[in-house]
Amino acid sequence: MVFVLATALAGIAPAQKRAVPPNVAAVLAETNTILRAVSRLRELPIKRPVKSGYRSRKEVEQAVIEDFETSQTPEEFAAQTKMLVALGLIPQDYNLREAMIELLTEQVAGFYQPKTGEFVLTESLIGDDRHSQRIAIAHELTHALQDQHFNLRRFEKPTKGNTDRDMAIRALVEGDATVTMLAYAFDGRMEIQKLPLSIGTLLEASGALLDDPKKTPALAAAPQALKQSLLFPYANGASFVQALLRNGGWTRVSQAFTDLPESTEQVLHPEKYLTRERPVTVSLPDVSALLGQGWSLVTNEVQGEFGYQLILGEFLDDRRAKQAVQGWGGDCSALYEHQPTGQLCLIQVTTWDTRAASRAFFDAYVERTQRRFPRHTFALAQEDLRVGKGVYLERRGAEVYLLEGLPPQADAKTLLKQLATVSRKLPA
Ligand SMILES: [Zn+2]
Repeated sequence: MVFVLATALAGIAPAQKRAVPPNVAAVLAETNTILRAVSRLRELPIKRPVKSGYRSRKEVEQAVIEDFETSQTPEEFAAQTKMLVALGLIPQDYNLREAMIELLTEQVAGFYQPKTGEFVLTESLIGDDRHSQRIAIAHELTHALQDQHFNLRRFEKPTKGNTDRDMAIRALVEGDATVTMLAYAFDGRMEIQKLPLSIGTLLEASGALLDDPKKTPALAAAPQALKQSLLFPYANGASFVQALLRNGGWTRVSQAFTDLPESTEQVLHPEKYLTRERPVTVSLPDVSALLGQGWSLVTNEVQGEFGYQLILGEFLDDRRAKQAVQGWGGDCSALYEHQPTGQLCLIQVTTWDTRAASRAFFDAYVERTQRRFPRHTFALAQEDLRVGKGVYLERRGAEVYLLEGLPPQADAKTLLKQLATVSRKLPA
């Protein structure tokens, strides 16, 4: 997958002396009452009291910036940005760092900090009614209980080269907090397990996750892929947790914090998590020598089923994109850069559950590529092979190879020979 936002904000600046607005002080005084309610609903005992605090919007922005700087190096962030440009998900000159800081600052109503065990309410909630404030607090206090029982700090650092896995874990963490928050909002009047609809569908239909340009201008202006990545852990995570609840109640949800989901595929299809359909690990060799002088490897990444939904969905309609990635098995993308010119070359090797699944993905990817580069022609060299300017797309059995931004001197056939011999570790 592409974007991962930190599980919670870390490294916040010490609170400066200032008056907490009276309406915030009043709702903060209810923290313990809300914590007891959340503990009962979530079936997790309180191990220790939770500290509560208040931060202004400026301080939240500072915390978001610090979180950015501590969770990854500038090089890692630059590599991630280049990957998104190569995939056509953000414009080349897009300032991702600035946009994400703005977006996160805007979206944060409150947060829980695993480092200090403190829950913080922010300015953006002021003016909202008391009921919405309590509901937001219930969400953050669920994170506090998760941390007391399952240790959230172990998820603070991203997994190198596998943001798909991080996204799946984040969906568990946020999905759990979202479902518990809803249970609190319904106040036991509605049993989540018995809802006939998925919570994700419900949240989307209710407009709760929709961007109102007046209230959240940064979200409204964000590129589609960024927006959907931001919402995935809440909407899809809630549906995932709901499926676990139906399977074995809150005990089953708690068990998932030990027996973690491994891919967004498992989150999108909870039955694949429950029956342990594990992702195939694809490892690629460094082929920079075959690209020519001045080329070097920037980063490796697993896009995952959700990542490919976004990659196809940027140019095709949503339903088509979702259908075409159903049979995802595993993938690895390697991004290369020509140092002197900054030209990018992206090599993706994907593997699918069946030949029919690789066919569906290949056809959709060809169509997506034609739409992305409408002025290029992609010759039908033979069935399952499309060649265009710097582009080479080939399907071989259950695998699909996607080479884009190839320099003229590189020979796709030689590259493919190297790539086809690499390991695909089938899950045990
Ligand atoms: Zn949360």
